[in-house]
Amino acid sequence: MGMFKSGDIVKVLLPNVVNTGYDYRLNAPANLGTFVECRVMNRPYIGVVWGLPDSKLPADKIKSVVRVLDKSLSITDLQWIKRMADWTLMTSGAVLKLIINIPDAFSPPKLEQLYDFDFDAKIKMTASRQAIADAFSSNDNEPMSVNDIVNIAHVSAPVVRTMIKNKTLRPTDVREIENENRFIHTYHDMGTVVLNDEQAAAAKKIAGAIENGGFSVFLLDGITGSGKTQVYFDAALRAYNAGKSVLLMMPEIALTAQFMSRFESRFGAAPVVWHSNLTAARRRDIWRGVLNGDIRVVVGTRSALFLPWQNLGLIVVDEEHDTSYKQEDMGNYHARDMAILRAAIAGFPVVLASATPAAETLENVRTGKYTGLKLTSRFGGATLPKIETIDLRQNRPEPYTTSAAPDAPEIAGALSAPMCDAIRETLDNHQQIMLFINRRGFAPIVQCKKCGWTATCPDCSVGMTYHKRIGKLLCHMCGRTAPMPDNCENCGGAVSLRGVGIEKIQEEVAARFPTARTAIVSSDTIASRQSLERIVKKMESGEIDIVIGTQILAKGHHFPNLTLVGVVDADMGLFGTDFRAAEHTFQQLFQVAGRAGRGAIPGHVLLQTYQPDHPVLTAICAGDRDAFMETDMAGRRLAKMPPFGQLIAVVVEGARESVLQKYCADLAAAAPNINGGRIMGPVPAQIYQIRNWYRMRFLVSGDVRAKLQPIVAGWLSRVKQPANIRVKIDVNPVNFM
Ligand code: ADP
Ligand code: ZN
Ligand code: ZN
Repeated sequence: MGMFKSGDIVKVLLPNVVNTGYDYRLNAPANLGTFVECRVMNRPYIGVVWGLPDSKLPADKIKSVVRVLDKSLSITDLQWIKRMADWTLMTSGAVLKLIINIPDAFSPPKLEQLYDFDFDAKIKMTASRQAIADAFSSNDNEPMSVNDIVNIAHVSAPVVRTMIKNKTLRPTDVREIENENRFIHTYHDMGTVVLNDEQAAAAKKIAGAIENGGFSVFLLDGITGSGKTQVYFDAALRAYNAGKSVLLMMPEIALTAQFMSRFESRFGAAPVVWHSNLTAARRRDIWRGVLNGDIRVVVGTRSALFLPWQNLGLIVVDEEHDTSYKQEDMGNYHARDMAILRAAIAGFPVVLASATPAAETLENVRTGKYTGLKLTSRFGGATLPKIETIDLRQNRPEPYTTSAAPDAPEIAGALSAPMCDAIRETLDNHQQIMLFINRRGFAPIVQCKKCGWTATCPDCSVGMTYHKRIGKLLCHMCGRTAPMPDNCENCGGAVSLRGVGIEKIQEEVAARFPTARTAIVSSDTIASRQSLERIVKKMESGEIDIVIGTQILAKGHHFPNLTLVGVVDADMGLFGTDFRAAEHTFQQLFQVAGRAGRGAIPGHVLLQTYQPDHPVLTAICAGDRDAFMETDMAGRRLAKMPPFGQLIAVVVEGARESVLQKYCADLAAAAPNINGGRIMGPVPAQIYQIRNWYRMRFLVSGDVRAKLQPIVAGWLSRVKQPANIRVKIDVNPVNFM
């Protein structure tokens, strides 16, 4: 029996950004949290029973729900939604929308024509056809609808139709693939792993917390290769065996085949994987399986936190410092923090894992809010790599040529002689090399030699990058392309390419090491996780000598024969304007360095820099993370920056500059006083224009105890917002764009 009876009027929360609940009449008994179907403007929506009604409408004006479903969110889930909304200043409806993101979850399976991909078809492989093939592989080759293919492969419908015509895509039946049972696995500890003493000690602490129940947070703080994964697998198996559900969250790029096979060999069956590139049928099946309590272990990206979990008993956040946990498009939330909030409300442990924990997390360990667990040695006795800088002031890179012709022009290089020597030696020893450069394209700056004009995007206030692969300029903000200009648009002078991107390094490597087998990995060249896996496989089998990559390659992978990591530009990122620049640079370089020497042969890391004495670099070379973080934190403590103070960014965007400026002036005039803090701004946002919208920013600060959210909400509600204005609120911002 429900707490509400048929005929009662209740408030229903609908998954909708503007929604704080509407009143409906029940046509069957229900509880708080019960899913109900309602019609809004003649379209069906699934919502949840949210509370007592509050409208003043006469009872006969209140519509009835279409039906009451026999599934519910728990009371703690409802509390979590409310608390998350209060914290992020999203509406409760917007938070619910993150949970109810499968519109037809409760409808009968849809009848859509599905297609199989014929991998034997003899067709010319274009980039979009490869993307389609990859979309199929990333869903275990299950049949897909045209919609699925378009959404997952990011290709246009005509491309798909051509492939249907040439029979590379073959029609199949529809009902075969929707089957909720296909993702239900049972797991056992296969006993394939014996934890070493340090690992066992950490695992024991977590096991105790799982056994006793209740909220707690652990930081599994271990150097790369120390076996953090095996420790949290241990915890996951314990929670699972105790009948609980377990969520293992990780950044998308860490969801590697290597990880899956490690999971399978420890758990005895494959994990259920949740990420953004799944077919609609698969999403629906997993969502329903989790709601039914049949699926109890999921490995997924940040959105897996919003599955309708039953009896959740453990969340692991791997690479907890990773900025991909911060969602910034549809509402701003930090999945790690929201996971901890969920655990605090429902009462279960959370394990954060990282080799380079976030400053916030370290501070919470220091103050005793979280329990720190350390793993200090690499598993199996592998040693940490030796890390050294190369001072570019003394080792200017020599020019190179791309042909042997005597009159071939000399091109300014980016790889110094010591770096080249180390690469050569590693090649001679038949070991592998990773060169790291976190800049896409060929040259980030296209500039006039005479007047200094640079090519910028007409819609965004950022420079355009020259991409050799596509032969065009590309805006990394909005994706607009433009032809490479022959001459300066301002004075007609000759233009030059300046700065170094990953494609330029590839050219230089090919010129200097013509017999080495190389591969390049960046988001431009890697259309999907599958194409990344192909390169990873080639690395493992020794078919690649030098891999050149952006941050995509920086984590998760374990290449025993990789012994040299070269960072082309270690200075990049040291001069960011936000207070997290040093922390993020440190984390990234430390992470990359961790790729070297994971097998029997010791590794070596070389950082090219103009500032070998910069504290970030000296700390990395000394392997002294704690000393570095202490210095960084001391600075933040003085400046009252997080975690020693709070910040909320309010970015206001407008299509018309005058309307935007007027609104911002009104906001500034209405700014309240804040104890221990203030409202700064408006100032033009760091990138003033994106996709032709103008952007202004306020920054609200307060001390750690201040309740900033209600102050900001009250402030914004007092000023009337004109049409064509977007207000984006970012609590504890990570990105200061
Ligand atoms: P981390 O996540 O801390 O970087 P991993 O969990 O990737 O480290 O472990 C590094 C390597 O050592 C992996 O190949 C892993 O399978 C192996 N390993 C770690 N602990 C054990 C163990 N107790 N028994 C066997 N292999 C282990
Ligand atoms: Zn010019
Ligand atoms: Zn642009």
